[in-house]
Amino acid sequence: MISVKHLTKYYGEHLAVDDISFEITEGHVYGFLGPNGAGKSTTMNIITGCISATDGTVLIDGHDIFEEPNEAKRLIGYLPEHPPLYMNESPMEYLKFVGEAKGLRGTQLIAQVNEVMEKTGILNVKNRRISALSKGYKQRVGIAQALLGNPKVIILDEPTVGLDPIQIVEIRDLILELGKTHTVIFSSHILSEVQAICDQIVMIARGKLVAFGEPEELQKQLLAPNEIIVTTNAVADDIKELLANIEQITEIETNTTESGYTVAQIKSVHEDIYELSSAVFSVFAKSENVIYEMTLKKGNLEDIFMELSETADAQVLTLTEGEVDEE
Ligand code: ADP
Ligand code: MG
Repeated sequence: MISVKHLTKYYGEHLAVDDISFEITEGHVYGFLGPNGAGKSTTMNIITGCISATDGTVLIDGHDIFEEPNEAKRLIGYLPEHPPLYMNESPMEYLKFVGEAKGLRGTQLIAQVNEVMEKTGILNVKNRRISALSKGYKQRVGIAQALLGNPKVIILDEPTVGLDPIQIVEIRDLILELGKTHTVIFSSHILSEVQAICDQIVMIARGKLVAFGEPEELQKQLLAPNEIIVTTNAVADDIKELLANIEQITEIETNTTESGYTVAQIKSVHEDIYELSSAVFSVFAKSENVIYEMTLKKGNLEDIFMELSETADAQVLTLTEGEVDEE
């Protein structure tokens, strides 16, 4: 459906999108997850043909967004971060205007405008001025215009930003509803929101793709224990020496308790923690030292999201087989 290959975008000297590749297949709701400044809007603006890329290709159903923009754009409905709503018009007038721009005319135009107003729940405010609508309703008008022309893919850039909790729930429900009939891509910097709505996560940080896959898989993999805490009589230097040959270990932090024991936090990322714990146990067992206590600590999803965001140079964590097209 959408094939993004080696997408790169520089704003002057600033690298905003750094060699991103992924495939969007039909019938899913994709959540673009990433902290502010990650490159989500830039990526969406390129995919939708609003801005150019510095490098890379975007194919929409086989149509190159730069070479065949008309064919490609017809397949996409887009709600940008700051939608150009005409505040003095009513939703009805505005949607007619957008529909005409998308090539709709006559009874077809009227029928579609009514259909998208019904789908987005704005029929009751269709004749009010857009400026008088709540932010939640304005957002619905923005989503309604994206649906005009019945595009296969709906792309929504941070559709719940600035909404109150009730409006957020309503927009999330609307996205879920749209997901039944369209391929939907929406962006968010809120992990729980992405987990709640989408069935595929595209995690972007510092312009790079850092994870791609199903939320359950992400949760399962990321929530796996990733830290071993050992209380021992060995001193810090001995612990580091003992563990020096275990490759999976990424970090060892030690603290001495008041009673003279050492508590070592042994960290490892996305490895089999049970294998690691048995390796740690066996080196201690072979030494003169005693383990008084050993605990496996589970990672916290929010922490790991932060960590992935900060270590964007790390390899892409692929959570479902064969989804990321690595050439
Ligand atoms: P996100 O939507 O994930 O918050 P953006 O795509 O808006 O991220 O921005 C990615 C990076 O590119 C940020 O560092 C941002 O400051 C920068 N950036 C975005 N738009 C422009 C622009 N028009 N000119 C210069 N830099 C920009
Ligand atoms: Mg943005």
